[in-house]
Amino acid sequence: MQGFVYQTSPMRVVFGAGTLLQLPGELTRLGVSRALVLATPRQKAQVAAINELIGARAAGVFTGAVMHTPVEVTERAMETVRSLQADCLIAIGGGSTTGLGKAIALRTDLPQVVIPTTYAGSEMTPVVGQTRDGIKTTQSSPKILPEVVIYDVELTMTMPAGLSAISGINAIAHAVEALYAQDRNPIISLMAQEGIGALAHVLPRICEQPADKAARIDALYGAWLCGVCLGAVGMALHHKLCHALGGLFNLPHAETHTVILPHALAYNSPAAPEAIARASGALGVPGPSLGLYDLARRLGAPKSLREIGMPEGGID
Ligand code: NAD
Repeated sequence: MQGFVYQTSPMRVVFGAGTLLQLPGELTRLGVSRALVLATPRQKAQVAAINELIGARAAGVFTGAVMHTPVEVTERAMETVRSLQADCLIAIGGGSTTGLGKAIALRTDLPQVVIPTTYAGSEMTPVVGQTRDGIKTTQSSPKILPEVVIYDVELTMTMPAGLSAISGINAIAHAVEALYAQDRNPIISLMAQEGIGALAHVLPRICEQPADKAARIDALYGAWLCGVCLGAVGMALHHKLCHALGGLFNLPHAETHTVILPHALAYNSPAAPEAIARASGALGVPGPSLGLYDLARRLGAPKSLREIGMPEGGID
């Protein structure tokens, strides 16, 4: 065992089924009374449910969140924050909505309650990636870390099989890279192994039966663990490749992770035997890069960058 540094994030996590009902109590704990609810255009129904739940504490909504957190969208949302005099942010959705909440928190330090509806894991990190003129840059700050995260499995039940598959593999990617992170530590490696195992085990079942709640609970548990890994230790080649490709060519986030992961892991394998052993154990296969490739194929996920919009001329 090598020496290590272990640091945890000061964050409150509420996990379970039906936990959205605890939102009013969480707002009371934070002492806030004018919430701005954030979402993507497709999640207006969930915004309406939140407005009903929190009543007079719903100051307004902004449903313009999009992928890769473009600065011009954040600036429009900031106008809403100012005009409403919001004193807290409620972000319901996947990583795109969480990213918008974080970008606003970076500018305002408003407290955030994040209610994830995918497996992206952004809610567990003090990092935001913002895009301006096709260039994505990441920034880290304690202001960005959400104060409260409410995981409610009921909100993940609507995720279609295809989105569940790629979002789940996106989560697995955080844990895989945590296993060979320069600043890895034993606790995070345990979480990474558990997270990879939980997700890899249930994703095929979810793709066959998206309404299987027991499988959905395990997947959300795995996604939380993988998100903790992402927030706790440094990411490497895989995340940097996806970041550059996503920002430059506006490639879809989770799909890009799904395509790149087996290749990035195969490339790193000779230099990371301990990580490979742990990932093998979690996946229950001798070769984790091939195992992840097979998993993606079984789930019907994309396998090439061409399939998801990468232009051949962009390779240089
Ligand atoms: P997303 O948030 O863009 O969601 C994809 C689509 O699925 C959206 O149209 C959304 O409305 C829909 N959706 C979300 N939840 C749903 C549900 N339960 N049922 C049906 N539809 C649903 O995608 P994502 O993969 O969650 O997030 C991607 C973004 O997150 C990227 O911008 C990425 O950079 C960012 N991200 C950031 C971090 C970080 O730590 N900073 C980590 C992971 C991802």
